[in-house]
Amino acid sequence: DEGGRLIIAIDGPSGAGKSTLAKRLAKELGFIYVDTGAMYRALALKVLREGVDLADDASMARLIGSTTIDLRHVDGALQVLLDGADVAAEIRTPQVSQMASKASALGVVRARLLELQRDMARRGSIVAEGRDIGTVVFPQAEVKIFLQASAAERARRRFAELQGAGQSVDLTETLREIEERDKRDSERDLAPLRQADDALMIDSSSFDADQVT
Ligand code: C5P
Repeated sequence: DEGGRLIIAIDGPSGAGKSTLAKRLAKELGFIYVDTGAMYRALALKVLREGVDLADDASMARLIGSTTIDLRHVDGALQVLLDGADVAAEIRTPQVSQMASKASALGVVRARLLELQRDMARRGSIVAEGRDIGTVVFPQAEVKIFLQASAAERARRRFAELQGAGQSVDLTETLREIEERDKRDSERDLAPLRQADDALMIDSSSFDADQVT
């Protein structure tokens, strides 16, 4: 852009390796890592905590208007600040994943988070990952990558990640969960998961993180 800042956009379904790739690129290039999924997750956590019905427009508008979400990097770790408190550990549960997917289909939610995401790109060069980065949030991004992997491989990775975090999960259930979420994310009307025409597609199914990077 006019400030000499660069944008790398990474999109794709869950478990394709977006976060791993984005973190590595950000570290290597000295760019800011913007995990947009974490922002949707933080908002979903608040929806769950407050018990707000997604179909209740007035309550959702009130909730969004009274919520602050920010990403911060402290000693190499990503902090996800929801109303000032770090919720990075709480947002990585299947329950939050599903609520994030449902809430992210709403126009009020997307409009607010889009605004915050564009604000972050004013802080410096960024690597942003999500579902609509190359298509909607930053269509002008200099580099766009659409990361894919087979559903079985994505479920295996997500399963290992959840297990590693000490959660009791089931592989079949994890596969069902990511397929349901990807279907919803791909079929929604607003900013559906889609490869941008000018994005480079990488299938990470049989590559490790080093090879993809
Ligand atoms: O990437 P992650 O799995 O953390 O994202 C959680 C959910 O947030 C996704 O399933 C999707 O519904 C939503 N999301 C989105 N747009 C983005 C990033 C995430 O709709 N740019």
